[in-house]
Amino acid sequence: MPGIGRVSREHALEQMVAEPLDVLVIGGGITGAGVALDASARGYRTGLIERGDFAGGTSSRSTKLVHGGIRYLPQLDVPLVREALIERGRLLRNAPHLVQPLSFILPLYASSRRPVGLPIAPPLGIGLGLILDTGLTVYDGLAGQEKIASHHRLTSEEVLNRAPCLQPRGLKTGFAYFDAQTDDARLTVAVLLSAAERGAMLANYCAATSFQMDRENLSLVTAVNTLPNADTSSEDSAASFSIHARHIVNATGVWAEMTEKLAGETPSLDIVPSKGTHLVFAKETFGLRDEAIVLPETADGRIMFIVPWLSRALVGTTDDAVAGIGTPVATEGEIDYMLEHVNRFVRRSVSRGDILATYSGYRPLLKLRNRRTPSRLSRSHAVVEGDDGLISVSGGKLTTYRRMAQDTVDRIDVREGRRHGHPTSHLVLYGSDGWYDGRAAFLRRGVELGLARDIAEHLSGSYGTAASSLLDLIAARPRLAERLIPDLPYIEAEVIHVCRSELALTLEDALARRTHIAIEDRSRGSSVAPRVAALMKEELSWSPKEQRRQLEAFAAFVRQETGPLSPTQVSES
Ligand SMILES: Cc1cc2nc3c(=O)[nH]c(=O)nc-3n(C[C@H](O)[C@H](O)[C@H](O)COP(=O)(O)OP(=O)(O)OC[C@H]3O[C@@H](n4cnc5c(N)ncnc54)[C@H](O)[C@@H]3O)c2cc1C
Repeated sequence: MPGIGRVSREHALEQMVAEPLDVLVIGGGITGAGVALDASARGYRTGLIERGDFAGGTSSRSTKLVHGGIRYLPQLDVPLVREALIERGRLLRNAPHLVQPLSFILPLYASSRRPVGLPIAPPLGIGLGLILDTGLTVYDGLAGQEKIASHHRLTSEEVLNRAPCLQPRGLKTGFAYFDAQTDDARLTVAVLLSAAERGAMLANYCAATSFQMDRENLSLVTAVNTLPNADTSSEDSAASFSIHARHIVNATGVWAEMTEKLAGETPSLDIVPSKGTHLVFAKETFGLRDEAIVLPETADGRIMFIVPWLSRALVGTTDDAVAGIGTPVATEGEIDYMLEHVNRFVRRSVSRGDILATYSGYRPLLKLRNRRTPSRLSRSHAVVEGDDGLISVSGGKLTTYRRMAQDTVDRIDVREGRRHGHPTSHLVLYGSDGWYDGRAAFLRRGVELGLARDIAEHLSGSYGTAASSLLDLIAARPRLAERLIPDLPYIEAEVIHVCRSELALTLEDALARRTHIAIEDRSRGSSVAPRVAALMKEELSWSPKEQRRQLEAFAAFVRQETGPLSPTQVSES
């Protein structure tokens, strides 16, 4: 399979500069990736630039759920829930290697008054079981044919059997219902690879710095290379490019309003950033198996989740409006808030010492400011056109990225007077075509090559059918099958693969987003960084000086992400 590597990035930039594009997408999170895929699938000559790494913004910092959102139902946000449930069904079909059904256990306690954010509290909680049952019936019903399976009621014994960490005191009953989960950063990469297969030109580490918008003719975007390199002069490393395109799409998430301003448009979007933080634990801390747990009620009327994800358990999230957007890092207050709420519901208290890692991100929540031309497509996201022609898409969720992209490219079709239909509804993403049928043969070959079962399963689940390239690497160099971290399934071959085929250009790209060692490992990848850097040095022709710079930059990233957890906590591996 082709993939995208360093050379194809250089080639993509050359091509974008050499000939005008139909569509230039700014922003390489899940939304921009979706727009690049949809536009290229409709036959538009498409380019995408991302100022950092793909999914380096919000799209690697979510709860990783592909869901309708049970908490939006009490707010009667039925269109939002219905749209997301339909997209959930499409993703389960179109990306089976990356999106799987997940069962959730929702407990109901005698002390509960407003579980799942109910707007009213029945006296003494009478009738809450019936209300939740009815709500989940509506949730199942809204999914229609996309329903994964019907929810069902559980006795308190059944709840405790399936979620043994929960506090038995006061537990009255519970429910099991279904949603889905994914790997947000890898989903973004899979969407980008699908776009590249259809001719899209993609460049990470390339920031749009100025715009000359022209609604009637070609617009011009000036972009600069942001990839630091110890071996290039400051002039070379800050090289700038002029890219002409007929349509410019602003898919810069929480930064979309700033991008509108940068383009000289009067902002139509009013982004209200909301910060969300997650805590990462060992699954054993909660005796977590393959079901998630809903913590039904926080002091501020929300819910929280304990979700099994890869090798770990994620606990999240907070939801706090913030005035400005900086580097999102967990604060003492957020950690205390989450520990307090988890400890209200679990049998054995958890403390800071149990936390392996934290991560935070900003939700691009949206208010519409200028309703003159907006096509407001749902309460979840908006596509707006500026006076000078910039098309901006923001809001929404990871789950609804495909629909957001479709609505955006529909707008381009209208401008062009063309009708292309909606090719992404049934478009199977990169790595998923034939994955299910070929999986058994893949696992057999993996075992024949000496891989442990968990490693073979991890490769298949992360890379889909492209994992066969990893087995080819191992067949040629068996050493590459070695684990990078003793208790995680990541291996050396992945480092080579993500450099050659997934545009990993820095240590952080490889350790934080193509793999998730920086979230799953207690040392946050510090212990393995020199080994990974040595492999990347060979692949990307780094000089010893650049290798050192990469290690220093990664150490700074780890310090920053560690936030208020004590350094000793992250240095024990
Ligand atoms: C804590 C939290 C939990 C969440 N959980 C879920 C969940 O479980 N399920 C779900 O469906 N959704 C969830 N979401 C929402 C979801 O993660 C976001 O809606 C989605 O990731 C936004 O993607 P995006 O592409 O619009 O933005 P981003 O991923 O932020 O991408 C925008 C990109 O634009 C780039 N950019 C900015 N300016 C420029 C420029 N000048 N030039 C080039 N590039 C630029 C940025 O670097 C960035 O990478 C969650 C969000 C948060 C914060």
